[in-house]
Amino acid sequence: MHSGAPTGTLAVIGGGVIGLSVARRAAQAGWTVRLHRTGAHGASWVAGGMLAPHSEGWPGEERLLRLGLESLRLWREGGYLDGLPPEVVTARESLVVAVDRADVADLRTVADWLADQGHPVIWEPAVRDVEPLLAQGIRHGFRAPTELAVDNRAVVEALATACERLGVQWAPPAHDLSRVSGDAVVIANGIDAPALCPGLPVRPVKGEVLRLRWRKGCMPLLGRVIRARVHGRQVYVVPRADGVVVGATQYEHGRDTAPVVSGVRDLLDDACAVLPALGEYELAECAAGLRPMTPDNLPLVHRLDERTLVATGHGRSGFLLAPWTAEQIMSELVPVGVQ
Ligand SMILES: Cc1cc2nc3c(=O)[nH]c(=O)nc-3n(C[C@H](O)[C@H](O)[C@H](O)COP(=O)(O)OP(=O)(O)OC[C@H]3O[C@@H](n4cnc5c(N)ncnc54)[C@H](O)[C@@H]3O)c2cc1C
Repeated sequence: MHSGAPTGTLAVIGGGVIGLSVARRAAQAGWTVRLHRTGAHGASWVAGGMLAPHSEGWPGEERLLRLGLESLRLWREGGYLDGLPPEVVTARESLVVAVDRADVADLRTVADWLADQGHPVIWEPAVRDVEPLLAQGIRHGFRAPTELAVDNRAVVEALATACERLGVQWAPPAHDLSRVSGDAVVIANGIDAPALCPGLPVRPVKGEVLRLRWRKGCMPLLGRVIRARVHGRQVYVVPRADGVVVGATQYEHGRDTAPVVSGVRDLLDDACAVLPALGEYELAECAAGLRPMTPDNLPLVHRLDERTLVATGHGRSGFLLAPWTAEQIMSELVPVGVQ
């Protein structure tokens, strides 16, 4: 992958999926990369790991849909997965289902909008024929056959390993840009980006997530992502090698990362209403993370000044958008000696 072209030294600030993806891509292109990180896990450690531009889509978010589809293409055939263990991919399809009539109407809205955008999904009038583990009475939904899901923690760890192999150096947290050396600097520290660059419009949006572990005698492990609208609320169940991830709530509560009872209860109620057999799984972990959201839900990936670039604000789609972000930053980086 090393291009052999003249490059330079690059400092990346933030060791989540975005910073690691940028660091790996730049090192592959021949940059000398230093990644500043904390010991703390950010949103990337909590995420569901769905790569789901169709089923995350909603009318009005046309640009986000386009970016998501482009990035999904990079995940599937653009080389982003090269060098990562194949087991990081845990599902190769999403099935999105509706519980009541209003939920069906919501799904129809999304499916019609996707068709209008030229990216139709497959409407299923009998979803239990597709996924027999669904609760009786659930009939309608759509399949998004090109969507993927990944094990978020395995991806973060594999990216860090890939960075090490490529010679990326680890460095302590950076709190002052003027003290960070390098020909170029990429701010990729999620919700903390405004502390380095005041005025960046990024705010934390909390999300609770559960990890349920398969036990002997439980229903077979899921092979696809199941998403559902349950009386107006949304829930998703994402396969992992040892069980599933159930997520996610979404509300604003500052920087609070304590999973609260009502959020956990809603997730369990909704997940079990859709897949009753999940009730037999072990409740292995409750966690909450902070999505770096922007006012228009679009990521901030661009140049700030001659030396500084930003890559944050990926909201609920940081894993999906990681390959696109890395390519976008590469297209903005000017090799030293070329200016
Ligand atoms: C509940 C939940 C579910 C989600 N599900 C999905 C999903 O299914 N699919 C999807 O695509 N996305 C999902 N997301 C969104 C995704 O997790 C985020 O968009 C993504 O993780 C953002 O990555 P990041 O690298 O920008 O930030 P982070 O992962 O938060 O990483 C930023 C890192 O920077 C570090 N840092 C902070 N300050 C400094 C400093 N001064 N110097 C150095 N380092 C610093 C932090 O400690 C942190 O480790 C979900 C998020 C949540 C919360």
